[in-house]
Amino acid sequence: MAECLFCRIVTGESPAEIVYEDDAVVAFRDIYPKAPVHLLIVPRRHIASISDVEPGDAELIGRCFVAARRLGETTGFAARGYRVGVNCGPEGGQVVYHLHLHFTAGRQQRGG
Ligand code: AMP
Ligand code: ZN
Repeated sequence: MAECLFCRIVTGESPAEIVYEDDAVVAFRDIYPKAPVHLLIVPRRHIASISDVEPGDAELIGRCFVAARRLGETTGFAARGYRVGVNCGPEGGQVVYHLHLHFTAGRQQRGG
C-alpha cells in the first residue's frame, strides 16, 4: 500500500468523494472543508510539492488547471468565481506531501 494518502485515494485504496477524474488528474472533496465548496485537485502521478516540480511536469500541472476550470463549470461557479491555491512546505501550510490545488468557492474567497 502506498505511503502517500493522496496516492491511495488516486488508486482507490483510501476512500474519498471523487468529483472528477481523467487520465492525468483526480479531484475529490476535502474532508475538512473550509468553504461551502472545497475540492482538492491532484495529479495522479506523485509529485510531493511545488519544490519538486520539474520542467517535464509542466503539462501535468497544466492539466490540473484545466480540471479546475471544468470544476468551476460543473459546480456552477464559473461566473461568480472561485479560488485556486497551493500550499508549499512547512511555512506554506502544506500538510499532505502530494501536490494538490485547493479549489474553494461559495463565499468571498480571500488569500494570496
Ligand atoms: P495542505 O494543508 O495544503 O497540505 O492540505 C491538505 C488538505 O487535505 C487539508 O485541507 C485536509 O483537510 C485535506 N485532507 C486530509 N485528509 C484527507 C482525506 N482523507 N480526504 C480528503 N481530504 C483530506
Ligand atoms: Zn502521492
